[in-house]
Amino acid sequence: MSSIDVIEKFLRYVRIDTQSDETTGTSPSTMKQHDLARVLRDELKEIGVTDVFYDEEHCYVYARIPANTEGSDGPALGFIAHMDTSDEVSGKDVKPRIVENYDGRDIQLDGEGRIVLSPVDFPELKNHKGEDLIVTDGTTLLGADDKAGIAEIMTMAHTLLSDPSIKHGDIRIAFTPDEEIGEGTAFFDLERFGAKYAYTVDGGKLGELEYENFNAAEGIIEVKGRSVHPGDAKNKMINASLICYEFHSLLPVFQNPMYTEGREGFFHLTEVSGRTESARASYIIRDHDRDLFEKKKELFLKAGEFLNEKYGEGTVKVTLKDQYYNMVELIRPHQHLVDNARKVMTDLGIAPIDRPIRGGTDGAMLSYKGLPCPNLCTGGYNYHGKYEYASIQEMRKIVDILLGIIDMYK
Ligand SMILES: [Zn+2]
Repeated sequence: MSSIDVIEKFLRYVRIDTQSDETTGTSPSTMKQHDLARVLRDELKEIGVTDVFYDEEHCYVYARIPANTEGSDGPALGFIAHMDTSDEVSGKDVKPRIVENYDGRDIQLDGEGRIVLSPVDFPELKNHKGEDLIVTDGTTLLGADDKAGIAEIMTMAHTLLSDPSIKHGDIRIAFTPDEEIGEGTAFFDLERFGAKYAYTVDGGKLGELEYENFNAAEGIIEVKGRSVHPGDAKNKMINASLICYEFHSLLPVFQNPMYTEGREGFFHLTEVSGRTESARASYIIRDHDRDLFEKKKELFLKAGEFLNEKYGEGTVKVTLKDQYYNMVELIRPHQHLVDNARKVMTDLGIAPIDRPIRGGTDGAMLSYKGLPCPNLCTGGYNYHGKYEYASIQEMRKIVDILLGIIDMYK
């Protein structure tokens, strides 16, 4: 068993640069994601998975481990992780370092001591005292998001195949590209994947079990103004930038990401540009509750209508587009997915953490495409930055969680 090590796998995967890029417009968004896809395809074959399919065009890797139980009628159960890393911080030349038996104090990431991972900034570090942590050298992200998930799934598969005494049902695995740019499910072949239920392994802290996410829409405001020489402008000028400003003032002040948490939704102004003649603002609208989400969109439209009444029809054009929905409505009919994961964790002495995601996941998209798909933890922290780290002990426990869930569905 000692030859199957989640950490050895993880350290290999993070050294492969797989950063995605939302500006390229291609699928996959970057060709280097294939570098990891090929490694995973080869490794799956090496460990004895006979049914591996690599979609070389769109960079998805699918694998199937058939049931080894006589007449197993459990559902085909899937596990999904994404190969790309965030485009916010470089994922090139990642040099992971292990801090053994962490003492609860500052961790110097770079050679000069300028970049420090400190419990003052990240109080959660205190919980990892005595554990072994994997950190960066302060110049890149780590890529635990989501290579920790990949390593855990690969270790689970490797364990199943090396020990036939572990009985299991039909297991499906998929590794996807471009999750970080919201395109992870664009070319996901649900039919080929063939799972009835699945889990994404893409969360953080040990125990996290996520099946609620935001309902999400994007709103664009385009304002037409009337530019007139300012010395001559009385009763003639319409300043589009100021109308944008006025539009924003009609939205509830405290329904803003800066003032919200938990299940509180918001309007977030993501971009604004304007002159006198024309102006434009982009928003994202989020709420876990579907009714409140619809009400937020109504209010958004009404603000535009109000300004059109005030300044003339056609002054403000409001465009709303739904982006994704809360998966909870689709998980509820399959509550066993949550209950079973919770039971496995509890049996392993891990306290399940139920927390609504303040964002979306590939699992939410897949749930709406017909594959109910909650999200499990990975043991990684501080995603999308140089301060990213992962706990070795937590990653090992997460492999046990995956094996435990498989046991429940055999
Ligand atoms: Zn992720």
